[in-house]
Amino acid sequence: MGRVNVRLDDLPLRADLRGLTPYGAPQAALPVALNVNENTHPVPQDVADDIMDSVALALREVNRYPDREFTELRQGFADYLGHGLTAENIWAANGSNEVLQHILQAFAGPGRTAFGFAPTYSMYPLLTRGVGATWIAGTRDVDFTVTPESAAEQVSEAAPDVVFLCSPNNPTGTPVPLDVIEAVYDAAPGIVIVDEAYYEFAPSGERSALTLLPGRERLIVSRTMSKAFAFAGARVGYLAADPAIVDALRLVRLPYHLSALTQAAASAALRHAPTMLRMVDEIVAQRDRISATVEALGYRPYESWSNFVLFGGVDDPRTVWQGLYDRGVLIRDVGIPHHLRVSAGTEEETTAFLDALASLGSAT
Ligand SMILES: *Cc1c(COP(=O)(O)O)cnc(C)c1O
Repeated sequence: MGRVNVRLDDLPLRADLRGLTPYGAPQAALPVALNVNENTHPVPQDVADDIMDSVALALREVNRYPDREFTELRQGFADYLGHGLTAENIWAANGSNEVLQHILQAFAGPGRTAFGFAPTYSMYPLLTRGVGATWIAGTRDVDFTVTPESAAEQVSEAAPDVVFLCSPNNPTGTPVPLDVIEAVYDAAPGIVIVDEAYYEFAPSGERSALTLLPGRERLIVSRTMSKAFAFAGARVGYLAADPAIVDALRLVRLPYHLSALTQAAASAALRHAPTMLRMVDEIVAQRDRISATVEALGYRPYESWSNFVLFGGVDDPRTVWQGLYDRGVLIRDVGIPHHLRVSAGTEEETTAFLDALASLGSAT
């Protein structure tokens, strides 16, 4: 039937959704796609084979609903995270985006608020609006860091029902020190989520917010298999928190929200965690190469604990983005004036990006 007559405005859409635009990172089929912080290394063949076997086994019982409590997978995440966590502390869903949505459904909603320090992950405001809650944007210093004092002051002032702390922060790469998390927790009346989507790319030995969980029943640490685990297409995210938080999320999830195939694939991948994470060091090396090279070209890279680099000093981001696009390289204009963000790819992809950027001339 095509799109002929009906426009969005003609539909009886919720008033609070009118005029909004959906999440829209371009999915262009370019040879070098470094725009959405994926792990561009494919899953190693031996792991892929084992995942296939597990999925094949699960398929034999796919006429039945899956284990609603995804018990084996929760145990797998507890074992992977360590820190004395048990399956009772774990929740999972189809990507950490759905995990975050569950948290907002349970703890935000109409008449409530969620807060984050801008610029931060673009999905937080969208997920917040999706549940009918109001987004409040806090501010950062010029280098995108936040001090414990400023963080606590802003959070006490806003008194939000849910706080998002993205650590390290997307799209800036900025680490969030544990004293900032503690200060925010003490100042916040409600739930505090530390989104550690990129934790595995942080310098080794850096403490996770998981170490802050004991005694903090309003604190949630979320993770994903999309980045370090090279599993973005499978859609698996998870969190660790007090078991009471997990009980709250059971109130809002759809029954059997994690398919038997997803559970089988994720459990199999977790059994191979060291192999799945083998590429992390290589990606970190490419990230640091990007930082050093864009700096040599006259741009200003920010410290990054993730698998991407935000760089400033870009006169006209649109032109640079287009120039790279025309050379087969897709990166991200995240809407911060004079800045662009690029994900670390394989060595070849990274070289392609750096060569293409150099061919556009140096920053002025
Ligand atoms: C990529 C990313 C996620 C992961 O989302 P999934 O739904 O698990 O793919 C979560 N948080 C941040 C900040 C991200 O950048």
